[in-house]
Amino acid sequence: MTQSAESEFAFELRVCAWAERNWPPGDAHDPDTTAIVARQLGTKHRRWDTVIVKADTDALAERARFGSKRLDSDLLGVVQHAPAEWTWYRDALPEPDYPWRYVREAVHRAADRGIVETRQRGNRIELRRKWAYPDWIERVIAIENKPDLTASAARALAGQIEHDVALGLADEVWVATTATGEAVEPVLLEDFPVEAGVLVLGDESFEGSNRDDASVAWHPRTLAVDEPSTRILDRPTGDPHDRSAARFEYVSPEWKREKRLAIAERAYERGWRSYVDTMRPDCRHFELRRDARDGGRDVLPWCAAKERRQTAAECAGSCPAFEPEPPNWRAAGWPIEGGPGSAVRRLLARRHARRRPDAPE
Ligand code: SF4
Repeated sequence: MTQSAESEFAFELRVCAWAERNWPPGDAHDPDTTAIVARQLGTKHRRWDTVIVKADTDALAERARFGSKRLDSDLLGVVQHAPAEWTWYRDALPEPDYPWRYVREAVHRAADRGIVETRQRGNRIELRRKWAYPDWIERVIAIENKPDLTASAARALAGQIEHDVALGLADEVWVATTATGEAVEPVLLEDFPVEAGVLVLGDESFEGSNRDDASVAWHPRTLAVDEPSTRILDRPTGDPHDRSAARFEYVSPEWKREKRLAIAERAYERGWRSYVDTMRPDCRHFELRRDARDGGRDVLPWCAAKERRQTAAECAGSCPAFEPEPPNWRAAGWPIEGGPGSAVRRLLARRHARRRPDAPE
């Protein structure tokens, strides 16, 4: 049994911070790739705890030309097909399966964001591209975080992981857990999908382990993201009286390509530090603290009133210990402008931006 009292939320942030610095585990850092890490992304049916988009660093810099906000599917449709020469938008863009006026709106939105050029020729709107939208995604990695992955937790999780493996939307599926101090991690003794990798993060409770360590207990299999796959809709429960049949739905490679790009765009915009948007950095007890046990490299949320890392759910206006930062903190322009809450947001935004290469001149 692990002795860690770490919440799932705190563990999730630790996994994100570790992955941002070290992905892929065990390999020497490849300067030609950048790991973009985000939390709680996925599809309508499935949300992953941690998503890593391994990106080609040069292509990612090209992507930066399009701004720090995500491009939604309509904008992607415009920038991916915008021609090099002035062309009527209906000749340039693929025929939609909805009215053209929605495409026209997307063209105007793209022009407003400065990512394509448009001009009016008579009653026709023409467009041309400013830059080619790059192919920046090398791999998408999905991680389920379970700090206490006991044998029974592994059994409960197995069905969800089988679903991810069958869908093949991510190139790799992993489970991240904390070291238990056992010779063999309990998950490996369970009937767990062999296609999923197991990443074990250190726990200082055990001799020789520290929280900045991580090791691969099981390597994942690369999934066939470019091939058709299946979404598992229903499956027999395993009860001998259950005579129901498993039900599947076909998933096309085109759907997967679009979803992967949509997930990557959201990851690019949000990163993993967006947790602050759902917490209360404007509470006087909210702090960002480095944890010496993590090597002091990451600043993560800390509640001075509770004297521990708070969860996102408890750090809300309804928290009984919530106290707004005193007005004089802000009036004094602390430390530069705004109160500590604003400073927290600025610090996290800077760290977020630092992980993304600048656009080329
Ligand atoms: S007291 Fe409550 S609202 Fe304030 S930082 Fe702690 S958990 Fe968040």
